[in-house]
Amino acid sequence: MNWKNGFKSKLKYPFSLDNQSGPAYLKVATLPTLAAGFTLRPGGFSCGHFASANMSYLVGDQDEMVARNRRALLQSAGENVFPSLVTVRQVHGNRCLTVTDRDPEKLAQLAQIGADALLTNQPGVLLGVLTADCLPLIMIGRNRRAVAVVHVGWRGLEQSIGVVAVTELVRRFAVAVETLQVYAGPAIGSCCFQVGSEVVDRFRRHSILDGVDGWCQERPSGYYIDLLSIQRAQLLAAGVAKENFHVVDICTHCHDFCFSYRRDHAITGRQLAFVGFKETT
Ligand SMILES: [Zn+2]
Repeated sequence: MNWKNGFKSKLKYPFSLDNQSGPAYLKVATLPTLAAGFTLRPGGFSCGHFASANMSYLVGDQDEMVARNRRALLQSAGENVFPSLVTVRQVHGNRCLTVTDRDPEKLAQLAQIGADALLTNQPGVLLGVLTADCLPLIMIGRNRRAVAVVHVGWRGLEQSIGVVAVTELVRRFAVAVETLQVYAGPAIGSCCFQVGSEVVDRFRRHSILDGVDGWCQERPSGYYIDLLSIQRAQLLAAGVAKENFHVVDICTHCHDFCFSYRRDHAITGRQLAFVGFKETT
């Protein structure tokens, strides 16, 4: 069966599938000076549990395969204009790291730093976060050359990491929040994201969720929460315009063309959310 059949009809602007060469990814339609997207599972070189487009060095895959996958992505999606990809050590917190350097050696060192969001105003720097059920966000400040990627698990969401990233984009780069575009990639959906009552209790303390429909559902098998609707409520309260919050709405757990930490019992690869803007001459 063709893996694309299951979701192509669900894809709509600004998201489209690019699987021409290298890792397949959901391309985000944006300015021609930007590269932005969410990778999927097919189109890479990794084998076994990590087949095939695993983008993480930290999950037990062979480094050589991850390097090949990343290189192939930089060639196709990055059009060879980004010398490297900048990632950090994700820790389920709410720390944002602002990248103001372009020296490749310094950028490589950032991989050791614990943070869950990356911001930059530097051309030629491609930022990435890695996920396999958590919600990845791409943020683009259209009135300024400023972008961010955010890794949002339930812990980060509970600590409002998305809002922290928005606040930093506004504070450091003078992005006008009402023009900020936010793109939410594939993540575990409320169909599958069962949590304990203690998790629900923590979110219940957030008054922002009062009156938000469907952020939590109680079914015979337990509680299920909807990362997307919680994230939307937080960002809209922070000033993001409703029409500027774009959701791909693909559940990683339901679709085997995505890596899913829960479905694959923790031994699996990671997909990458990436964004950067090109040097203009
Ligand atoms: Zn699902």
